[in-house]
Amino acid sequence: MVKITIDRDKCEGADCAECTDVCPMEVLVLEGDKIVIKHPEECSFCEVCMDVCPNEAVNVEE
Ligand code: SF4
Ligand code: SF4
Repeated sequence: MVKITIDRDKCEGADCAECTDVCPMEVLVLEGDKIVIKHPEECSFCEVCMDVCPNEAVNVEE
């Protein structure tokens, strides 16, 4: 299973939410004003979230 981490100091949450828009597996979801990691076992390790994040706040590793 992949390990997903979000650096809360770098993440802009609801002001950005780019990663939630692009995640094909709906692993990253906006709840209130912050990004929540839902069912990480569904992550396909596509790395799109890391590609779109303007702040390098999200990291996915195997
Ligand atoms: S690597 Fe892909 S599937 Fe996994 S959380 Fe990021 S965008 Fe979603
Ligand atoms: S793309 Fe990066 S900064 Fe934007 S909500 Fe996702 S983790 Fe936070």
